[in-house]
Amino acid sequence: MNNITMPAYAKLNLCLDVLNRRPDGYHTVRMLMQSLKMHDTLYLSRTEDSGITVIPYAPENDPSIPWDERNLAYQAANLFFQTYPVKGGVQIAIDKQIPAAAGLAGGSSDAAATLKGLNALFNTNCSLEELQQLGLKLGADVPYCLLLGTALAEGIGEQLTPLPKAPHFYCTLIKPSTGISTKYIYEHLELSPDTSHPDTEAALAAVTAQDRQMLAASLGNILEAPALTLCPEIKKIKADLISLGASGVLMTGSGPTVFGLFETKEASFHAAEYFCAHNYPTTSFVTEFYDPS
Ligand code: ATP
Repeated sequence: MNNITMPAYAKLNLCLDVLNRRPDGYHTVRMLMQSLKMHDTLYLSRTEDSGITVIPYAPENDPSIPWDERNLAYQAANLFFQTYPVKGGVQIAIDKQIPAAAGLAGGSSDAAATLKGLNALFNTNCSLEELQQLGLKLGADVPYCLLLGTALAEGIGEQLTPLPKAPHFYCTLIKPSTGISTKYIYEHLELSPDTSHPDTEAALAAVTAQDRQMLAASLGNILEAPALTLCPEIKKIKADLISLGASGVLMTGSGPTVFGLFETKEASFHAAEYFCAHNYPTTSFVTEFYDPS
């Protein structure tokens, strides 16, 4: 096999809690993760000569992303070739559909898809666990992006417990134009005995019980408070999504993307159209939960 096409799925955090700061600068987290159908597509071609090339699949693909050795797909390929001394190299063309720096793990997912794709192209037969150990060197979300589905992520995000698939929802994603730095958000996160934390237990119980309403009511993200200081429009977007019929609303990751969970595709599209029609400085997307099984 010389070519392989790999989807790289976006994720949402249905719950994101930070338990403490570690002396090494990492944070101990507890996150309920959910894959989305929205995905990038990576076209990997094995080359005879060694070396890695990462290119946009189409000229209109996101110009804000670095298409050189800083690209996470490049870094994943580099790590793979350093770890497994196989013959040849790879060219990776990425059709970028996941908005970058949005809290949707677009970069981590491209890294995960690259590792999976190279494992198949070069017949290295690595297990999921081996790929996850390698992926963790690239980012805390990469092991989850290799697993996919509904899962609890603990530790720095790498300790994963697969869960039964969450009750299905359509999702309207609203990305404000304000960029948010993940570093800033974590630095401005207040962690004191008075800080209120998301009810992750309730969200986990809702997944186990397959209780849609309870799941929608248990969404929570401790990073919303510091994100609101930089991007106050998050509050208005959430309120509008609720009045448009969303069962639950939340910011994903370190933001700034806000999602609304809808029971029907029509309601989800209607909400996205509302944001376009009312001239918000936002970008809207409609997608739905993805179950890899
Ligand atoms: P997370 O949810 O894991 O925190 P994110 O969705 O907030 O991630 P990404 O889309 O992964 O953010 O992008 C983070 C940064 O990584 C961007 O500023 C971008 O320049 C860089 N980057 C490197 N490679 C990629 C890639 N293949 N796709 C997207 N961004 C990339």
